[in-house]
Amino acid sequence: MSEKTYSGKMRVSFDLDEVLFVSPETHKTEPKLPFPLDRIFKERLRLGTPELINSLQNMGYEVWVYTSSFRSIRYIKLLFLFYGVRFDDIVNGTRHLREVQRDRKEILPQKLPNRYRISLHIDDESIVCSMGRQYGYNTYQLNAQDDNWKEKIIERAEEIRSNRL
Ligand SMILES: [Mg+2]
Repeated sequence: MSEKTYSGKMRVSFDLDEVLFVSPETHKTEPKLPFPLDRIFKERLRLGTPELINSLQNMGYEVWVYTSSFRSIRYIKLLFLFYGVRFDDIVNGTRHLREVQRDRKEILPQKLPNRYRISLHIDDESIVCSMGRQYGYNTYQLNAQDDNWKEKIIERAEEIRSNRL
């Protein structure tokens, strides 16, 4: 990572599957995109996603996506643009393999947020969250429907940011 990309803002990243992309059968979701976009972008966003991402950015955080899925960065970018969200950066499975795993023989964890100077990563998987302690990044585990998820994540981010200063 080059120094030039370091803005000094604290970085927060979100996993996609089961975190920002959820099933309307188990979670409250944002409305579908209008036809025919809903035929191309089938994922449903957790209710409040655009509001939370925009709030965090307005509060001076950089917000990234860090997913181990292989959806293209262009697809992810476009889908969220239709919801009025512009991420500061996106790491997908392909980018992780290219920039983090590279040609190393040991298999690294599926995500290493600290390699991208991410201070807080939100994920549904216990394995990703528990590795934070070992590899040195903070996590917030989110899975089930939670009406207060936005407030809780903001609180966690603020707590980490105030400790960094
Ligand atoms: Mg996930």
